Amino acid sequence: MERRFECTACGKCCYGWLPLSIDDALGHADRFPLFLQWTPVRQGGKSYDLAVELGLTIKLKNRKRAAVRIEPISYVPPDMPCPALRKDGLCAVHDAKPRRCRAMPLSGGRAENDQDDLLIPKADWACNTTSTAPVVYRDKKIVTREAFELERKQLMADADVLKPFAELMLDSIPSLRLDLTKLAQRPHGGCMILSFSTLVPRLAYVDIYALAAKQLPVMASFAKLTSETPKHADEHRRYTASAGEWRRILDGAP
Ligand code: SF4
Ligand code: SF4
Repeated sequence: MERRFECTACGKCCYGWLPLSIDDALGHADRFPLFLQWTPVRQGGKSYDLAVELGLTIKLKNRKRAAVRIEPISYVPPDMPCPALRKDGLCAVHDAKPRRCRAMPLSGGRAENDQDDLLIPKADWACNTTSTAPVVYRDKKIVTREAFELERKQLMADADVLKPFAELMLDSIPSLRLDLTKLAQRPHGGCMILSFSTLVPRLAYVDIYALAAKQLPVMASFAKLTSETPKHADEHRRYTASAGEWRRILDGAP
């Protein structure tokens, strides 16, 4: 079984949530509304072993476990374009675009044998999957590996920071462990979207005030964009709360 794929740069997949490396998040903090996505993956689920390597594990009932992935994301409603998507469908930050975008449609955050569905374009996407496109996946092995390997390497490096951070959060906020456990036991899973600012004290090289100065206008702008549409109520609430957090941080600047 082989799959062919070629990007024609239609920009149709540049909508909604975008997982980011820590460096990509910090490098585009003046553009992307940053949050942390916490996703439990139940034991036996797809890419579970990789999730254990990249995240932490929590106990469930019946001696089962779940791995929890923690990832920075650009948190944009699914029907809204990435802030870097230009009107002509091209990427405004092409030369510095995130690792995730470079690896598209493959994902370094998934096991190599779990990429099949990513190579099936959605109805309105203009990806070329005909016989003129190169073979990118054959017998569950990735053929063109470079961008995939770079993303995987970055995720492994980020895990060295994100895992101890997440352990600390679980130890200091008991309700977080409980909420993740409940989420992991739901039939269709799910994820939690939490503040990005809590991670910053773990990144000794980051000036939190400079970061707050970049994130505050981004959050305020997304809060405004989502203020009048009932379907964006959850996003609006998070942008507003996050803007408040970044404002409080800025107010405490020396
Ligand atoms: S950064 Fe560029 S390539 Fe990535 S989702 Fe945004 S517009 Fe698309
Ligand atoms: S939908 Fe397909 S063709 Fe369009 S930008 Fe995304 S990967 Fe490229």
